[in-house]
Amino acid sequence: MDKIAIFPGSFDPITRGHEDVITRAVPLFDKIFVSIGINREKKNYFSIEERVGFLKTVFAKYPKIEIDTYEGLTVDYCRKVGAQYILRGLRTSADFEFERSIGQVNKKLFPEIETIFFLTHPEFTSLNSSVVRDILSHGGDASMFIPEGLILG
Ligand code: ADP
Repeated sequence: MDKIAIFPGSFDPITRGHEDVITRAVPLFDKIFVSIGINREKKNYFSIEERVGFLKTVFAKYPKIEIDTYEGLTVDYCRKVGAQYILRGLRTSADFEFERSIGQVNKKLFPEIETIFFLTHPEFTSLNSSVVRDILSHGGDASMFIPEGLILG
């Protein structure tokens, strides 16, 4: 049976931290869906179409990676695409506490699913999408925090 994983997130926008974790997961799975969870109540900086475009650019050279979007429960989406694994990154103990409860609830909802965590490289520990959005909204240069060569907007 193929090992199929999803890496869900907002990716508003993708950062070097996301890129690092996702590329490290590539050798471990047959297929990885990098999927934007759509939350219509949340105000986003980049549109869904823009975020999909960024992800497609960054992961174009990885045939195992598919870019997708979904609405609703992550476990329902896992069932739909046949994924047995949910991948997440851990930066700090705050991430751990947040992820622990989601992971445990997801396991209750879908007992066959396993959540797998990747420790971030120390250089990316303080990096998140909101830092990038702050820099961009003030006209700063965020290129060192986003995947090399990616042009936002
Ligand atoms: P969400 O909006 O659900 O937090 P994000 O797109 O910000 O989604 O993050 C998705 C996943 O990427 C989460 O597991 C998060 O911990 C991980 N992640 C975000 N930034 C980094 C980083 N700098 N290093 C490693 N993992 C990260």
